[in-house]
Amino acid sequence: MKINRRSFLASGLAVAAGTVAGPAKARAQSDGAEEVVLATLLDLSKCIACGACVQACREANARKYPEPVKPFPKMYPSRVKAADWSDKRHVDDRLTPYNWLYIQTASGTYDGKPFELNIPRRCLHCQNPPCANLCPWGAASKDGRGIVAIDDEICLGGSKCKDVCPWHIPERQTGVGLYLKLAPSFAGNGVMFKCDRCQDRVVAGGTPACIEACPEGVQTIGPRDEILAQARKLAEESGGFLYGDTENGGTNTFYVSPVPFDVLNQSIEKGPGRPHLAAVADPFTAEDVLARAVYAAPLAGLMAGALHLIRGATSEGKNE
Ligand code: SF4
Ligand code: SF4
Ligand code: SF4
Repeated sequence: MKINRRSFLASGLAVAAGTVAGPAKARAQSDGAEEVVLATLLDLSKCIACGACVQACREANARKYPEPVKPFPKMYPSRVKAADWSDKRHVDDRLTPYNWLYIQTASGTYDGKPFELNIPRRCLHCQNPPCANLCPWGAASKDGRGIVAIDDEICLGGSKCKDVCPWHIPERQTGVGLYLKLAPSFAGNGVMFKCDRCQDRVVAGGTPACIEACPEGVQTIGPRDEILAQARKLAEESGGFLYGDTENGGTNTFYVSPVPFDVLNQSIEKGPGRPHLAAVADPFTAEDVLARAVYAAPLAGLMAGALHLIRGATSEGKNE
């Protein structure tokens, strides 16, 4: 089967209308057990910047990393620059498609005393994630455990998720993904990557690799209400400060620090791949989310149709 713009649109519309099956890959995987929203607490007073978590993340998730085809097709739209980290996989001092966690260091003076704190940075897994709510193709989604993940089989690398994320977390790799099979000159320019909170391990009943590897017990994971209560208690008892409970309408990642986050935010290196620590207001009202979901639904259907076509073409090719 040949895939062209007409068949892509027709199939997508059929899926949007409910006449063919949606994406075959389970988006929010389930093991059948009751799903509880999980959150993590990071006690910044404990992190020694040893990097064991970063290394563990890279090892646990290496098989999910992109293997791009080169040379890259022409980008669409042409003003979009190719993003290529495939020859810089070793970079571990910022977020990249090959490095979903890094340690940010803040040093300065607070309350007349010098401080140095290390902050593991990755996706915060928002409760109401704009990256998932506004992905035009439905490639990003949140599962019943509160994990926000990007489906690398659907993502076209348009970067909307990065634009709307208050911390600009997802990172693009060009030369990989659905757009290569679809029509590189029609849509897309790669795939976006970020921490998926080790979704496969968690669904299987395990623990995220970074948490397991930490020698200092910096991170704790558990049901959100329990972890939030623990985070508030820690902040209160230590005279510390909490980040992540209200940011962006609430996240599933709570940082507790002995230094206020506005001070930390002034003390860290910020920029591409190096997110800020400023306060973030909730950008969504319930009405907004509904309106945007309705807007995005036909496009998500379109993408499901494209996948349906491509899988059909692939299996026909195998049977020839
Ligand atoms: S931190 Fe950004 S990428 Fe992660 S869930 Fe929130 S909006 Fe999405
Ligand atoms: S939860 Fe998993 S994917 Fe996310 S930073 Fe930790 S090891 Fe990496
Ligand atoms: S493994 Fe633990 S102590 Fe080491 S850098 Fe990561 S969070 Fe910090």
